[in-house]
Amino acid sequence: MKYFNYHTHTLYCDGRAAPEAYIKEAIRKGMTALGFSSHSPLPLDNNFSIKENKIDEYKAEISRLQEIYKDKIKIFLALEFDYIPGISDNLSILKNRLDLDYTIGSVHLAKNKETGELWFIDGAEINYTQGLSHIFQNDIRLAVQSYFEQVAEMLISQKPTIAGHIDKVKMNNKGKYFSEEEAWYKNLSKKVLEAAVKSGSIIEVNTRGIYKKRCDSLYPGIALLKEIYKMNIPVTISSDAHDPSELISYFPETISILKDIGFKKIKYFSGTEWEDREI
Ligand SMILES: [Zn+2]
Ligand SMILES: [Zn+2]
Repeated sequence: MKYFNYHTHTLYCDGRAAPEAYIKEAIRKGMTALGFSSHSPLPLDNNFSIKENKIDEYKAEISRLQEIYKDKIKIFLALEFDYIPGISDNLSILKNRLDLDYTIGSVHLAKNKETGELWFIDGAEINYTQGLSHIFQNDIRLAVQSYFEQVAEMLISQKPTIAGHIDKVKMNNKGKYFSEEEAWYKNLSKKVLEAAVKSGSIIEVNTRGIYKKRCDSLYPGIALLKEIYKMNIPVTISSDAHDPSELISYFPETISILKDIGFKKIKYFSGTEWEDREI
């Protein structure tokens, strides 16, 4: 099958190359569609989000490239919204302002609802371990619960087109604190699936953890993917590329994992609607 990817980061946020480099590589790989999804601006000091004053330039640059490459590949403008209750802006504000083609909703910082402190789950292992200790007093169940509840709340309140790496909280676990097979973990993660049904979001099957060797399973993992299949929730595949070389990393393997579970189709964006593509 011809590949497509809707989750891509460039120099506008924490990616390693300019948008055009990704487009050239996507065309070389025979891809049919490529969506750019910079991390949305956050009112917090950080080194991964696009800056508020770069937003209009980002839109203009993607529009310029859409025009240049329109006969070769479909290019889309999106953002990966970082959802932090009480801190991040409502997704619809930037979606409307930039006339985005679609949105990805993600949680990278899980909030302790009692204290308001933020646990960065997507960085180095040391931040994860220290956050778990300082913010959640090493109560891994409370920490994981806070993460999954925030993802579910994000889906219900923001209704992103795509639910981004829904179980990324496991990335730095590496078998130390829990198993994805434990009942409490499964019950918490399942609440996210129920929220995705309500919000109508597509769940992305994100390959980044595996090809970066930060995690030994896809986001979502196999147990969750089986539930997603049973619940008939639509999925798409994305690489969360931060470098042009990563655009379709681990896609063939992921397609075969999905087929083994029973999936027969994934979602493809034509520019007007999300259609089914047979796999
Ligand atoms: Zn992300
Ligand atoms: Zn991302």
